Amino acid sequence: MKNHSRKTYSLINLPALLCNYNQIDNLTPNSKTIAVIKANAYGHGAVEVAQYLSKHVPAFGVALIDEAIELREAGITLPILIMEGALSREDFSTALQQNFWLMLHTTQQVEWLTSSFPNYVGKLWLKMDTGMNRLGIKPDEIKNILTKLTAQQLEEIVLCTHFSSSDELNNPKTQLQIQEFDRINQIFGLKKSLANSAGILHWPESHGDYNRLGLALYGSNPTPVEKLAVTLTPVMTLQSTIISLRQLSEGESVGYGEMWQAKRPTIIATIAIGYADGYPRNAKNGTPVFINGNIAPLAGRVSMDMLTVDVTDISDVKLGDSVELWGENLAVETVAEYLDTVNYELLTRVSNRVTRIYR
Ligand code: PLP
Repeated sequence: MKNHSRKTYSLINLPALLCNYNQIDNLTPNSKTIAVIKANAYGHGAVEVAQYLSKHVPAFGVALIDEAIELREAGITLPILIMEGALSREDFSTALQQNFWLMLHTTQQVEWLTSSFPNYVGKLWLKMDTGMNRLGIKPDEIKNILTKLTAQQLEEIVLCTHFSSSDELNNPKTQLQIQEFDRINQIFGLKKSLANSAGILHWPESHGDYNRLGLALYGSNPTPVEKLAVTLTPVMTLQSTIISLRQLSEGESVGYGEMWQAKRPTIIATIAIGYADGYPRNAKNGTPVFINGNIAPLAGRVSMDMLTVDVTDISDVKLGDSVELWGENLAVETVAEYLDTVNYELLTRVSNRVTRIYR
């Protein structure tokens, strides 16, 4: 959507994307780093991100078959791993024709594959449930399946799992999941894939033949740890402008529900971004925004198309000034804390009313 008069943009720093990727990839020289670009590349534009990264990564990861098809239609020829489990029997022929990598997570899916495509000898990913208890085949069942599958002489089987708590560095759960994974894989010696962003950055024992890098690729930190082995640069800067400025007297309120009242003579700036653009309505008073080199606090309830900020303490504020909601100067994870959510959700929910500008 072209909203140039509104000047509400998501600025996407593509060189930062590559810089983040290369640094993280260099941490694990024995692993291939798959760039996870599901959910429209975490809100950064899947086709643009894939086109930019195509020459630098071995493969892409998406959640849905439709996301993979969109990439193929845009001319992306690299392998694409479909990681979400909802593949139906009918999806298999499309997926195999398009040379997608399939991550199977039920015994039934494996049976569909072996019965309908007995001649398939490509690569296959098998998801094992090591304790997330959401998707995946239980370790004890996987032994039978593997015996059948190896009879099919597949080119490569990648055994994979997904962590429930790798962002919690003191939680023993990740280590238990790794141990459970290794207990099974030492029998079969398959290629392995365990690590997401937090796994790559903090759990070296989880590094496999393939790591699956999502959030950190976009320059966002998956854990509260501030000192990382890499310097992440935020790829998305969500930016808008001041469209109105007004002076309030002490006691006057702002916006729906009078959620905020002036405790002193106050200057309120109205910014052209609201919950229909993806800025959450549950943002509390005091949530930071970045204006003219300073942090200013949100004042009043977020509306559908705009929000209001107390700029009394910021000098030289004028109509048309740009405002950063998160990005280069204000980490999305900091904003997420005020909004009782996580950086993943904020990045992925920016709506298509917001024009993405690639730099
Ligand atoms: N692997 C799987 C199966 C996923 O579902 C995801 C994202 O949720 C990732 C890897 C990437 O995770 P992260 O964004 O934490 O790097």
